Amino acid sequence: MSEKVLDRVIGQVRETALLQTSLAVLEWDERTGLPSSAGAYRAEQITLLSGLIHRRKTDPRLGEWLAELKESELANDPSSPQGATVARLHKDFERNTKLPVDLVKAISKAIVLGQQAWERARKADDWSQFESHMQAIFSLRRQQAERLREPEGTLYDALLDEYEEGARARELTRVFAQLRDDLVALVQELADAGDPPRGESWRPRMSLERQRAISRWIAEQIGYDFRRGRLDETSHPFCATLGPHDCRILTRFQEDFFPSGFYGTLHEAGHGLYEQGLPTEWFGLPPGTYASLGVHESQSRMWENFVGRSQAFWKWCFPHVQSMGDHAWDAMTADEVYRDANRVQPSLIRVEADEVTYNLHILIRFEIEQELIGGSLRVADAPDAWNQRYRDYLDVEPPSARDGILQDVHWSAGLVGYFPTYALGNLYAAQLMKAANQQLGDMDLALASGEFQPLLDWLRKHVHAYGFCMHPKDLIEQASQAPLDAGALTEYLRAKLLPIYGK
Ligand SMILES: [Zn+2]
Repeated sequence: MSEKVLDRVIGQVRETALLQTSLAVLEWDERTGLPSSAGAYRAEQITLLSGLIHRRKTDPRLGEWLAELKESELANDPSSPQGATVARLHKDFERNTKLPVDLVKAISKAIVLGQQAWERARKADDWSQFESHMQAIFSLRRQQAERLREPEGTLYDALLDEYEEGARARELTRVFAQLRDDLVALVQELADAGDPPRGESWRPRMSLERQRAISRWIAEQIGYDFRRGRLDETSHPFCATLGPHDCRILTRFQEDFFPSGFYGTLHEAGHGLYEQGLPTEWFGLPPGTYASLGVHESQSRMWENFVGRSQAFWKWCFPHVQSMGDHAWDAMTADEVYRDANRVQPSLIRVEADEVTYNLHILIRFEIEQELIGGSLRVADAPDAWNQRYRDYLDVEPPSARDGILQDVHWSAGLVGYFPTYALGNLYAAQLMKAANQQLGDMDLALASGEFQPLLDWLRKHVHAYGFCMHPKDLIEQASQAPLDAGALTEYLRAKLLPIYGK
């Protein structure tokens, strides 16, 4: 009997996925060269589809079916595909229906106005133009958290749960504090070193045409399947899933800065490999969906940094790029490129940060947004708290709000509790890489000959195949055979960077 109900649920959700992927096509198209006058109509299309999707997701009949399934034997094993489907969809439904319509509308409106105000404020470098919007957004998100909060969780946990199910701020605070202390010390050690990389090897101009060819080639080399994907260009790189066999990646190229397009491609291809590795027969349903944003980011960081900034990788990759690069790299060596790929430089802007300081940028936002939601920090005092932490952790002084608190779009878009998933991605990737190295033998040998399949197969088996059948925390713990900890990331960074810096 409950199998029949499950079939009904699956049918309904698969249809919703058809609408969601149609929406994703429109959004992909919007970000890859929409004619400038087409924006208003596109917004209407997107609004209509979003409304239809929301209505389907909150359909009372779906709620009844899910409530029935929740009590059935199908729910007994929440890590089986059927059990995970029931558990996750039930939770989603509850979340979607727990919030009063007025609050949902108020949030949508605050976000639209907030983003417009943020753009104006950033352009004018004037925090005061955004302050009241940020106040409104945080106050609404707090109200939302009050509705969604679980008895044993905090308000912040309720927001975090949307992006990283089951994560708890208390645990993250403990792990992140360790990471912060380790990295602040490491940055200091590197600053005192006598032989820092200068970052100049990236500068020779290389035509966009050559860079495009190299990017496509490297994505193919690591296993990204172009029969089920494509590579395009945009102003803010991303990865979009438009169907079970259609996952697209986008990057941006700069003629005088090779890493922009190259690492943008490796990062997004890492996301793409994860999407291409999810079980297609469950597409649109929890077992065919990524586990969390943190796990997703662990896959992109794995290929961008742990592979793409390793010495073994550049030993193999350098001659290829040299021969494809139309003489741009003739005067360079693999070692110079490797060193420059690992240059650590405290800076103000998160998206331009290196592999070490990037995490500190994230921790600053995590600490501030927790204090704002918890009520110990007022929005009006947030810019000062921001600047103070940049001085303390990175020893840099934001000269203005534009290079400080106004630099990121996330808060104006209502994304609170989202930032920590970026740092979690790095922690997860370090744990996964350590486990893969232990189980596959020293990976450097494979990477130095351009063999990426063993690592990809390992990730497919231990991460991708599970979809969203496990909590991200359990998934990573099982795959890496270790609890969440800052140690693996710190160890990896120290082992790589200290020798580069001559220590
Ligand atoms: Zn990413």
